[in-house]
Amino acid sequence: MKVNNLMAELERKHPGESEYLQAVREVLESIEEIYNDHPEFERAKIVERMVEPDRIITFRVTWVDDSGQIQTNLGYRVQFNSAIGPYKGGIRFHAAVNQSMLKFLGFEQTFKNALTTLPMGGAKGGSDFSPKGKSDAEIMRFCQAFMLELWNNIGPDTDVPAGDVGVGGREIGYMYGMYKKLAREYNTGVLTGKGLTWGGSLIRPEATGFGALYFTEHMLRHAGKSIKDKTVAISGFGNVAWGAAQKATELGAKVIAISGPDGVIYNPNGMTAEKIDYMLELRASNRDIVAPFAERFPDSEFIAGKKAWSIKCDIALPCAFQNELNGDDARELLAGGTWCVAEVSNMGCTPEAIETFQKAGILFAPGKAVNAGGVATSGLEMTQNAQHLSWSAEEVDKKLHYIMSQIHSSCVRFGEQPDGTINYVKGANVAGFMKVAQAMLEQGVI
Ligand code: GLU
Repeated sequence: MKVNNLMAELERKHPGESEYLQAVREVLESIEEIYNDHPEFERAKIVERMVEPDRIITFRVTWVDDSGQIQTNLGYRVQFNSAIGPYKGGIRFHAAVNQSMLKFLGFEQTFKNALTTLPMGGAKGGSDFSPKGKSDAEIMRFCQAFMLELWNNIGPDTDVPAGDVGVGGREIGYMYGMYKKLAREYNTGVLTGKGLTWGGSLIRPEATGFGALYFTEHMLRHAGKSIKDKTVAISGFGNVAWGAAQKATELGAKVIAISGPDGVIYNPNGMTAEKIDYMLELRASNRDIVAPFAERFPDSEFIAGKKAWSIKCDIALPCAFQNELNGDDARELLAGGTWCVAEVSNMGCTPEAIETFQKAGILFAPGKAVNAGGVATSGLEMTQNAQHLSWSAEEVDKKLHYIMSQIHSSCVRFGEQPDGTINYVKGANVAGFMKVAQAMLEQGVI
């Protein structure tokens, strides 16, 4: 396999799908060496098959807004790979959603899910519907219209969607209600991220952020460091940032920044329980701004138009959107003394930013390893649903902790460099790839 030849072919077939092409290149560059050591993969054309989704379902979503106007959005489900289990992955509602974005996310999800140790294939779905400024009733009607098209393509052993950017417990509730009505069965395993009284799992809302901090702790420990008393800058203020802020604070770190599309909150005194709770209120307001945090907590300051990366910190945690941390941001962080970056968002750093961190020799870990605790806990929710029971918070948290330690060990196993340092990007990509490739090989040409 020659990465450049393969990429040239993909660029010809999928022109303009920049996020998808970026995600594929990153994985192929990491696995090239090990792939070429396995002629059986080459013979079975594993890579050529793996980079294309099994199928993409696209549909129109029509709904009526509060003023009686008819609105039309695009809906998608990218069923990427089912080699190791039923399709699994979130649904994203955001104005910028398009096929390229969901293909990149479905591709990443395939490797991430393989890392979790649980039997889940990769998928992603979503719509260019923006929840920003929408009323609760509008969100409900949109979710119902979206599910009206999707329901026949999903199921507990077929494809199990969950939340992602713009989709949290409220949206999953509206989608599940409509699914149940259409399917005429109470099939909780069809969606994860459900409410606690109807099949949801304790710790699922916190899981992505908690898992990210467990992974970060392992990474620091492996490098002979500790998270205690370190300063942490987090981008975003949604569900993932909330869980990360909560666990980082619990582990003794000081969260000195959170951010939104409108700017950054500089929070020199760190988080309190009240501040962490307020992050949830901010998200639920559907306004997509972080500025009110500083009005509510006068010991913090809002700096308009700035990113979290303008705040000097030890550890940076991108928790918002793909490519939210670019080369300039990376240089700014390094100049401010940052020595650890753990991507919590999917593909949060641009290739230039990753290269800048790796050249500087700081600790860097990619989203598909760091944020895998979210989907892993979705897998635990599926298990509970299949058994018709629910586990205690302690039990779920213990399992999540164990899974994150396993993911860290896989990264170390496949990413250890001759000088003893760990290339976490390579480690995560190779570990995920080997598992999916082996399963595809064993299942023949399909
Ligand atoms: N959207 C999350 C992710 O990127 C969670 C997916 C899930 O729970 O299925 O992994």
